[in-house]
Amino acid sequence: MVGRLAGKNAIITGAAGGIGLETAILFAKEGANVLLADISEPALEKAVAKVKELVPAASRLETRKCDVSKEADVQAMVESLDAWGGLDVIFNNAGIMHARDDDAINTPEDIWDLTHNINVKGVWFGCKHAVLALRRNKKTKGSIINTASVVALVGAATPQLAYTASKGAVLALTRELAMVHAREGFRFNSLCPAPLNTPLLQDWLGDDKAKRQRREVHFPTGRFGEAVEQAHAVVFLASDEASFVNGSDFVVDGGMTKAYVTPE
Ligand code: NAD
Repeated sequence: MVGRLAGKNAIITGAAGGIGLETAILFAKEGANVLLADISEPALEKAVAKVKELVPAASRLETRKCDVSKEADVQAMVESLDAWGGLDVIFNNAGIMHARDDDAINTPEDIWDLTHNINVKGVWFGCKHAVLALRRNKKTKGSIINTASVVALVGAATPQLAYTASKGAVLALTRELAMVHAREGFRFNSLCPAPLNTPLLQDWLGDDKAKRQRREVHFPTGRFGEAVEQAHAVVFLASDEASFVNGSDFVVDGGMTKAYVTPE
């Protein structure tokens, strides 16, 4: 199969969710071999069925249950791609925003720990085992994309402190890894999505119009983003077209973080 990712072996974590699934579809369309990983097996089965339906000519598509907060799971997942010829791309995208996440006073410590175990440690484990795999398979290039968020760049008065801090950590660790591994040809970039129409946010907003309006007003476009708009950016970062893009906070936000006052 030809395509912008032809011949690349890619892992996507959180592949059954909004951004992950759209990315799996585009990766498959662009010719990558894709391992869809998620903590939820039933959701994974649905996700892979969808990719197969939309991309019947997909190269190689497999699923794997993986809890990214458990190093043994991540290690086994990454090592499983040695049988494919070794990993070329990993999209460390799994993440949570917990309903009980709050401000400095009211965020429970167990919610802080849970959020950081998945959103930060999960990304670290993904990066660590990607580097080991790229070296083991003698790769001279590799692309690691880690999902952060615009809340790592701008302050929000609607608090979710554990989540915000976790995404700041993703930006910082990604930048450092980009520097440490640049001469090996391994690129590390963070994706910074703005609030999106995916279950992660939309389930949390529910039908609370005021809560929704409080966020929508900050978009110059007047709307939340779509998951597929993030996926297109991930394809670029994963591809060799982005060969000189390294260590970036890649912001896909419809201009939100550049707004002072938005159009009426
Ligand atoms: P989503 O909830 O639709 O998908 C997240 C997926 O991660 C789910 O399929 C879930 O089962 C999986 N997951 C949760 N815990 C896991 C674990 N321990 N191990 C493996 N998989 C696990 O969310 P989404 O909107 O697609 O979010 C993807 C990423 O984008 C997250 O890191 C999120 O923080 C980030 N993000 C989302 C938004 C947004 O508005 N949706 C904005 C900025 C950043």
